[in-house]
Amino acid sequence: MGRMQSERLTPSDLVGCRYRQVQRINFPEISPLPATMQRRARREVGLTEVLDRLPEQPKKRGRIPFTRADLDNDAELAEFETLEAIAAGDTLITGAVFTGTLEGVAWEVQVDVLVRNPDGSYMPVMVSNHRVARPDPHKTMQGIAVTRLGLGQPLELKATLRHHTIDGYRLTLALMGLEEAGAAPESSIGAVVGQDRDWAYLVDVTRYAPAAHRALLTPAPTAPRRVKECATCRFWPKCEPELKAADDISLFLTGDRADTYREKGINTTTALIDANLGEISHVAAAWRAEIPVLRREAHTSAPRFDVEIDVDVEAYLDLGAYLWGAWDGKTYIPFVIWSDLGEAAEGENFARFWSWLKSRRDKARQQGQTFGVFCYASNGENHWMLSTARRFFGKVKGVPDEQEIRSFISSDQWNDMFAVARSQLVGPGGLGLKQLAPAAGFHWEEEDFAGEDSLHAYLIASTAAEPEAEAARAQLLSYNGDDCRATAAVRHWLRQGARTAPVLGNI
Ligand code: SF4
Repeated sequence: MGRMQSERLTPSDLVGCRYRQVQRINFPEISPLPATMQRRARREVGLTEVLDRLPEQPKKRGRIPFTRADLDNDAELAEFETLEAIAAGDTLITGAVFTGTLEGVAWEVQVDVLVRNPDGSYMPVMVSNHRVARPDPHKTMQGIAVTRLGLGQPLELKATLRHHTIDGYRLTLALMGLEEAGAAPESSIGAVVGQDRDWAYLVDVTRYAPAAHRALLTPAPTAPRRVKECATCRFWPKCEPELKAADDISLFLTGDRADTYREKGINTTTALIDANLGEISHVAAAWRAEIPVLRREAHTSAPRFDVEIDVDVEAYLDLGAYLWGAWDGKTYIPFVIWSDLGEAAEGENFARFWSWLKSRRDKARQQGQTFGVFCYASNGENHWMLSTARRFFGKVKGVPDEQEIRSFISSDQWNDMFAVARSQLVGPGGLGLKQLAPAAGFHWEEEDFAGEDSLHAYLIASTAAEPEAEAARAQLLSYNGDDCRATAAVRHWLRQGARTAPVLGNI
């Protein structure tokens, strides 16, 4: 962020932990973590894709001259150049920057694209890696094709907008900058280009403005509080000792989960344990004793079938599912593609997986055996099975229709081990597969490889040169295979009584 001044608030300072802005000034020497750099790299890839699609010059020169100014938003004079380009009336301005103050609070925003409206005002457009709209046959909203920005008019699209606060705040600050420059649109309309790089979806920014203003004016907190994002925050080595020294209850109950206890004056984990509030106090004691999982009852169980398959899907953002992994107790069978997500190849890959699964089911039936398929937290698998059917049924041979998928999902053959575990266990740090499987004695070959790493690995696997791509593919297959095996391990462990987990109330 070359020229960005640390004391100016940026839109990302306004969402999530507000203590970051304090730590950023306290510890300017701490540089961003690799995951943050990777996220930035993914955003850069998306931004470049969009900038490449923007019109350079109109295909046919109309009456209105078309000009495009590409600015470097890291340059010292970026804001000055932005104002110059606005004054010159350029049709498209990329890499714009605005700064300003609101009641003495200084802010700064980088605007990916400014698009000149016919009345001379500008519409800010932000590029985001979020999914900003979803197709909806019953609703309409407005959007402009990215290739027509600055040239075309908005069209009615059958879609609904999804809200992402950060995108709304970025647009709000952009409009505040345009206001200062005397070029804000009366309509307060901005646009966001999300994972679907073809469309800029129009957003009424007024709905975000009050919250963005409030966030700007809210004073920064004076102490840290553990929240979800601490896990990926560069300042954790500074905040953790502070929280530990205070025995802050957020170390055990993150974010606002401890609010009800704070309201009762319980601010430390020790106080929560001593308060003897039933289950929560027992779980707090388990947390203090570093016990990851507890049994609610002495007896535990899991569904059992003669033939059991564990399944795990990997997807890249919202673009498609590239890997369906299956473990049959002896062999790991990956169905995978490393390119052409969203194209017929994705449907064909799923069709191979589906046909394999059905053949295992039919074989079991012929041999008079029961058959069950397992996954851990079925939301992802359900989403991608249904989405694949919707996108490819009738177009790609072997892809089932939605009804067939729905019948499978609602059948006894489809089992969510997370739901099974949750009904019998409780974990101070939650019951994610990563928390639970180690208690069941399972360990991943690829340690420290979490969701965001897999996104980055897919980017390398699908775009880098050999042997880097090959290494990333091997890593993803190992990770996915171990997720399948970990699901199986949890099931076996529950059947054997989950004895390594103490019974709640016994600690
Ligand atoms: S480690 Fe957590 S509390 Fe500290 S600045 Fe980061 S997100 Fe905030």
